[in-house]
Amino acid sequence: MRTLEEVFQALFLLIITNLIFVNNFPHLMKAISLLVLINIISLLLLTACARSQIKNSDTMKYNKLTTEEEKVIINKGTEAPFTGKYYKFDGQGTYSCKRCDAPLYRSEDKFDARCGWPSFDDEIKDAVKKVTDADGMRTEIMCAKCGAHLGHVFYGEDFTSKNTRHCVNSISLNFVSEDEAIKTDRAIFAGGCFWGTEFYFQKAEGVISTEVGYIGGQKEHPTYEEVCSGQTGHAEAVRVIFDPSKTTFEKLARLFFEIHDPTTQNRQGPDVGKQYRSAVFYLNDEQKEITNKLINLLNEKGFKVVTEVSKSCSFWVAENYHQDYYEHKGSRPYCHFYTKRF
Ligand SMILES: [Zn+2]
Repeated sequence: MRTLEEVFQALFLLIITNLIFVNNFPHLMKAISLLVLINIISLLLLTACARSQIKNSDTMKYNKLTTEEEKVIINKGTEAPFTGKYYKFDGQGTYSCKRCDAPLYRSEDKFDARCGWPSFDDEIKDAVKKVTDADGMRTEIMCAKCGAHLGHVFYGEDFTSKNTRHCVNSISLNFVSEDEAIKTDRAIFAGGCFWGTEFYFQKAEGVISTEVGYIGGQKEHPTYEEVCSGQTGHAEAVRVIFDPSKTTFEKLARLFFEIHDPTTQNRQGPDVGKQYRSAVFYLNDEQKEITNKLINLLNEKGFKVVTEVSKSCSFWVAENYHQDYYEHKGSRPYCHFYTKRF
């Protein structure tokens, strides 16, 4: 069961089936009691599915909020004017979402509107979602990634040339100064269908973001269909951006060898073809050494690892509908499973 809508569709079908059943067998008490039993079991199953669906969507790594923060961020409250820590603050850096850490605003877009709340005349591209309030008067702004309430946006007030004022609660924000901005590192892994590989890396500790794409082939800007034909030589791969203060390439590479089968040549489960080969595309000598070390470790344990170790080359980001595939579908991979190998 993938989404709540599907649960409701199933419930609807159940009701229709009941009506048809009762109409056809109006006098069969036995049949009806059996039907009641089936209904109860189905309802219990559906409720469990719906619960796990809600739980699934909550598994994004959110920061724990204090009661004060929840009042604004979750319950859409407003902090008292002139009290927030960023109202008169003018450090250079980035303002991020208190709940999910997504970057939202840059200090160069901040200005003093003398209104009592931090004001910005622009946002980081696609970071802020705008929704008209129920009264139709104002436009609410939320973190596009996690839905955290930020404040409201106003237009046409002539404060700056952009004529826009994002009026944001300080309590909804964190500030990261330019000096302490996170230093990131990257890794590229190919382990069969990239939907499944990405699913596991997204959930790994220290991973900031992931992208699926194609690497290791001859053609520039390949499409999914071209790669699937097996003629371009590309492998379906995942580019992982991680925070090296929270995880390491070795930890991620170990995970890679445990979420796909590194012993099957050009194949993962039902997916067969060179595009599904197992490969690490190293970005530096250290990554290459660690990968070879792990392969040797696995070989010593009796696994016959066929993983290709290649120098990284052009990574072509795949079409949008392949990104965050299972996250959007709310389901789990059919071809990738975690298996302990180290
Ligand atoms: Zn957020």
